[in-house]
Amino acid sequence: MLRWKDILRYAKYSNPEPPRRVEKTAAEWWAQLTPAQYEVLREQATEPPYRNAYCRNYEPGVYACAGCGSLLFDATAKYHAISGWPSFTQPVAKNAIWYGFDDSHYLQRIEARCNVCEGHLGHVFPDGPAPSGLRYCLNSASLVRLGG
Ligand SMILES: [Zn+2]
Repeated sequence: MLRWKDILRYAKYSNPEPPRRVEKTAAEWWAQLTPAQYEVLREQATEPPYRNAYCRNYEPGVYACAGCGSLLFDATAKYHAISGWPSFTQPVAKNAIWYGFDDSHYLQRIEARCNVCEGHLGHVFPDGPAPSGLRYCLNSASLVRLGG
């Protein structure tokens, strides 16, 4: 199980090796993604709180990257964080997510990206529930839920 110290270590030194890599040009991503997906995944946009697809969705299933289809989160790790965005305590695998420091907006945050295509997902915070203590606060537009 990943904990905050692991996330800091990944962001500071090096991320785990992804199972594969998907690299495309901006034009190729633009052709493949919806405008909302492109803004979040490729331009680090943040969608409005509550008015997004998975904020209140607690159906079983798994969540894949909307860019490359890599499996990222299981619905069993999803919880109600009262943040307005879908929130998870743990990814499906240690090497599913890329972590990096994000100092934009005068905040010091840890950015979470898909480790396979480097698509922006959201941020990770150390105020999640036990036992991991992690809160992955993600944009619905970066995810696709596959039914369970
Ligand atoms: Zn991806």
